[in-house]
Amino acid sequence: LRKCLYNAGFRPGDIVMNTFSYHLTPAGIFLDDACNGIGCVTVPTGVGNTEIQVKTMAGLKINGYIGVPSFLMSLIKKMEELGHDTAKGLSMEIALVAGEILSPSLRKGLNDYGIIVRQAYITAELGGVAYECPQENGMHISDDLYIEICDPVTGEPLPPGSIGEVVVTDFSNECYPLVRYGTGDLSVLDEGECLCGRTSYKLKGIMGRADEVTKIKGMFVHPRQIDEAAAKFSDEIEKIRVVVTRSGVTDMMTVEIQLKHGVAGIDTLKTAIDEKIRESTKLRGNTVFVAEIPEGSKKIEDKRKWD
Ligand SMILES: [Zn+2]
Repeated sequence: LRKCLYNAGFRPGDIVMNTFSYHLTPAGIFLDDACNGIGCVTVPTGVGNTEIQVKTMAGLKINGYIGVPSFLMSLIKKMEELGHDTAKGLSMEIALVAGEILSPSLRKGLNDYGIIVRQAYITAELGGVAYECPQENGMHISDDLYIEICDPVTGEPLPPGSIGEVVVTDFSNECYPLVRYGTGDLSVLDEGECLCGRTSYKLKGIMGRADEVTKIKGMFVHPRQIDEAAAKFSDEIEKIRVVVTRSGVTDMMTVEIQLKHGVAGIDTLKTAIDEKIRESTKLRGNTVFVAEIPEGSKKIEDKRKWD
């Protein structure tokens, strides 16, 4: 991860806010450690508390950001809302983003504020897997990893250029070697030469999840979590599905409910379902009652477009 940060452009003396969670996930600590390791000053702001984060960002003249890209945009928008002049007063110069698909429009939006945005592919098991160079057209794979792109169903390696599951072999960690570890993430391997001069192959971005697990607002949501919440309402709910869309740079989660015959879609029921969904997914959704959920639809329908 140190390499990842250095390649992204972080340098000793930078004041960097790390907005990954320090709680129940290793991302916060991993990156904190790497950031201090290359001589940056790390400000461990963690997730949430947008207004305090904005005050911290402005007060400490923070020039580096680590976290999901949409949250950086939310911070900037909040700054503007609070009357800061982001055209002149924004000290932010560089961002290392991960944990979420970075759309070209969001990158452009952040670039317009004078921020360089570099993506990294980081997993809890492996740490930094790949990172973007200044060419910003794919992520160079870390030297000590061997990566295959495989058919998610059979596990067989696919021919160059195919989209498939990223499978990683890592012998660099002696306590925890991993052989052909299936990440569940989809990507394409780019074996071409890169203008930056690095010779390692690249991953052409992360294109989604191999199974039905979906990342919403940076959190994994599994169909099981939805079923778990629905099970509390077995007398009322006939069918349930989650539809994920995107409004601007923010993921929106709509919980569609088809009620059992004769059950009224009243507000108290809607509130109760909202609450259970939040309990099981840690995300705030919006419950709507629909006449019918189409036959054969997925439990989590991802309708986001990444253009
Ligand atoms: Zn390159």
